[in-house]
Amino acid sequence: MTAKIIDGKAIAAEVREEVANETKVLADRGIKPGLATVVVGDDPASRIYVASKRKACAQAGINSWDHDLEASTPQDELLELLARLAADDQVHGILVQLPLPGHIDEELVLDAVPPHKDADGFHPYNLGRLLAGNPVVAPATPAGIQELLLRTGVETTGAEVVVVGRSNIVGKPVAAMLMQKRPGGNATVTVCHTGTKDLASHTRRADILIAAIGQLKAITAPMVAPGAVVIDVGMNRTESGLFGDVDFEAVKEVASAITPVPGGVGPMTIAMLLKNVVALAS
Ligand code: NDP
Repeated sequence: MTAKIIDGKAIAAEVREEVANETKVLADRGIKPGLATVVVGDDPASRIYVASKRKACAQAGINSWDHDLEASTPQDELLELLARLAADDQVHGILVQLPLPGHIDEELVLDAVPPHKDADGFHPYNLGRLLAGNPVVAPATPAGIQELLLRTGVETTGAEVVVVGRSNIVGKPVAAMLMQKRPGGNATVTVCHTGTKDLASHTRRADILIAAIGQLKAITAPMVAPGAVVIDVGMNRTESGLFGDVDFEAVKEVASAITPVPGGVGPMTIAMLLKNVVALAS
């Protein structure tokens, strides 16, 4: 069997078009959604990522303001900037690009973004609502994964979902979303991590396998059940290009559907971020 390739780029384009239509409706009410992005330091991957977010904002009719701070910026200065953005009525969403330099307390910074301007959905209030099944905004990457499943018609109700990775930005929120009793959820979810014994015994049970590990080709073909749907969140930069956490060439011969890297989850993350900004603005 050769898996169907889930075209994240095409699905993200659909979502972005819907967002652009929503911004036109908001414009009739005199509202132009606005996103402020804050990057501290010059991590090349973060810069590339934020640059594409900014371009996508312009295409969707969303204002964006860029705050590029030196890696040595003191924490107080960053908190002052966030307080100014929090008070600015034109700014509906604030995005602080992670990771932050070591001298900055990430938790303190995420708490300083007011929940009603939390474009990435990382504030504890928004994460709490997500867990309770009543989100205002959901973290963009997990929301993008759920949207990919919904729009490709993958049945999640009753499915065995195995998530490899338990980060606060991908693994935990995607597990929380897929277990909710609602469309795109209602699955039986297992979360694996470095403490998991015999990882393959779990991954082989998955109808839907989500890899958010950060390790090149960590998921090999023998770890995947025939016919499984495989979502590869990983972004591993190598000299020969960008690769996921899944051994794509081998796994696509076993799975029924698979996301490529690049062109799978990545474009969805940006599209869902725009959707969040519009939701916050309206
Ligand atoms: P983290 O490093 O924060 O988390 C990785 C998780 O994987 C941890 O929970 C870790 O376990 C687990 N893990 C690592 N090695 C193994 C292993 N051998 N077996 C089982 N579990 C393991 O990563 P992120 O969640 O932030 O990101 C994951 C990947 O997704 C990265 O490649 C990142 O670049 C990419 N990413 C892509 C996005 C996109 O838009 N496409 C957005 C965000 C991230 P433990 O907790 O025990 O350490």
